[in-house]
Amino acid sequence: MSCLFCKIINREIPASIVYEDDHVLAFNDIGPQAPTHVLVVPKKHVPSLNDVTAEDMELVGRLVHTAASIAKVRGIDAAGYRTVFNTNRDAGQTVFHIHLHLLGGRSLGWPPG
Ligand code: AMP
Ligand code: ZN
Repeated sequence: MSCLFCKIINREIPASIVYEDDHVLAFNDIGPQAPTHVLVVPKKHVPSLNDVTAEDMELVGRLVHTAASIAKVRGIDAAGYRTVFNTNRDAGQTVFHIHLHLLGGRSLGWPPG
């Protein structure tokens, strides 16, 4: 499998891992856009949100819950943070294994560019 995030999950390439369980891995983004910029990914390879099926609904919930838990551990939950799935070209998706961006630790502009 040539997927970059599958390689991180399989420890074929290194990452700065912040959380792991049977279903989910979270690691620091290599090009952080905020003081906290963590990617939360399912261990199951799903290319984009367009490929999520009904049987993945629990898994997507796990991604969101994991992001919120990390925000709490980092102490940014009260101040606030942003969680983002980029999907396909118009959103600038570059890695085709779904990942929830957790961004926080500074004030974030809205709307995004
Ligand atoms: P997206 O544009 O939503 O597909 O986000 C892909 C993210 O993956 C970007 O924010 C990249 O900085 C990040 N990224 C790419 N390669 C790595 C890597 N080896 N380790 C951690 N993050 C990465
Ligand atoms: Zn993958």
